[in-house]
Amino acid sequence: MRSSVLRGVSTIPGRRALLFAAVLPPLTLLDVFALPSFSLGAFLTRVAWGLGLVVFALLFERGSETRRRLLLLFNGAAGSLFYLALVYFTGSLASPYVLLVPTLPLLAAFVYPEESGSAVASGVACTLGIGVYVLMGKGSVEQAAGWAGMVGSSTFFGLVGSGQYRKTAAALNEARVERARREALEKLAVAELQRVQSERLATVGRLAASVMHEINNPLAFVRANLNFIQTEVFTQPLAPALREELKEVFGETRLGMERIQQIVQDLKGFSHSMDAEAACECALVDVVEDAARLASIRLKSVGELKIEVSPELPKVFIMPRRLAQVLLNLLVNAGDALEEAKVPRGEVRVHGAVRGQRVMLVVEDNGPGFSPEVLPRLFEAFFTTKGTDKGTGLGLSISRELVERFGGTLVAENRQEGGARLRIELPIYAPPAG
Ligand code: ADP
Repeated sequence: MRSSVLRGVSTIPGRRALLFAAVLPPLTLLDVFALPSFSLGAFLTRVAWGLGLVVFALLFERGSETRRRLLLLFNGAAGSLFYLALVYFTGSLASPYVLLVPTLPLLAAFVYPEESGSAVASGVACTLGIGVYVLMGKGSVEQAAGWAGMVGSSTFFGLVGSGQYRKTAAALNEARVERARREALEKLAVAELQRVQSERLATVGRLAASVMHEINNPLAFVRANLNFIQTEVFTQPLAPALREELKEVFGETRLGMERIQQIVQDLKGFSHSMDAEAACECALVDVVEDAARLASIRLKSVGELKIEVSPELPKVFIMPRRLAQVLLNLLVNAGDALEEAKVPRGEVRVHGAVRGQRVMLVVEDNGPGFSPEVLPRLFEAFFTTKGTDKGTGLGLSISRELVERFGGTLVAENRQEGGARLRIELPIYAPPAG
């Protein structure tokens, strides 16, 4: 745990030392106010101390963890000794700077909280140094003990403070590691689900291809037989009303057959070779129509689908099937919302417009919209209100990622009149110059 604290802030103590080294020599100006005369010894002590700090910073930057610990210990003691030298050159116990000696261990703990040894080393150096000055100045042992007591208290508070700092830093570090681990796991799970989804799509594509083959054969002879029956029936004398009715029945049957063929073809085209798709200059109206054809199968039972996308809209540079996948997601979501809320006259509308240099596609419905708890979490991976058997919670997060890959944005909001609105904005295609 201790090592992670030091590793997490590895270069910081070195940088602090450099900063301190830079301000030390100019601090000589203090002497002008505090001392009766300039002290060369004090000035040189500050310069030597500053150089010492530069060496410390350089060694610290390149050191191993053990070496860094030793350097912090050494620096705690050396800093205090330099300060004691400063006190010595400015009058020993009569120096105006002597009063700050007991605070040095606290300062060491404050400046280098990563290593408690720094405060201890400073405490030991200060106790010994000040003891020597007291004895040199013919002071009493009690006097020396008084100073030692003050230094000891400051060392104690320094140790408590730096311990607290290390505990907080370690907890923060642990939280950071945990967050990174969770994010990595989440990314892995999303990637896995995306893989499963594209595998599923590929399977649907293969299945649709064989279903199409299986359906096309019977469809061909149903069509031929229908034509035969139609010709035979209409050569018979029929009452005009019956003739009209039969015409209608034949027309509807033919439409139904075409629809079956179209649905299977769409399914196949939609899910086939999604991964190998290249980006191209596309008209949004084609993409919308592709998605709408498939979505209409889902939306038929819940409401009306209205498409208001002009073929005049500027082109965009996208992978059309992927954008169709996004639109299909939004349309199916709208269908789910309308069904869930049992909206009597459900309506889903897709419309397009130009906004500055971007072209906009809006999908909106008159369903329940997004509740305040759902709205901020819509694009979170795995967020779903549909239950795990129905929703994966990946539709919107993958959709946003895809749209962003085309340089666009996907945003969601509630309509003022009620219902959800999802807005895709894409940059207008600008052909390369020349
Ligand atoms: P899923 O559809 O698997 O739940 P999505 O990411 O597509 O995942 O959607 C996340 C959630 O957003 C849905 O569970 C639903 O609560 C909400 N949502 C999406 N579209 C709509 C909409 N048109 N109206 C209301 N809620 C919606």
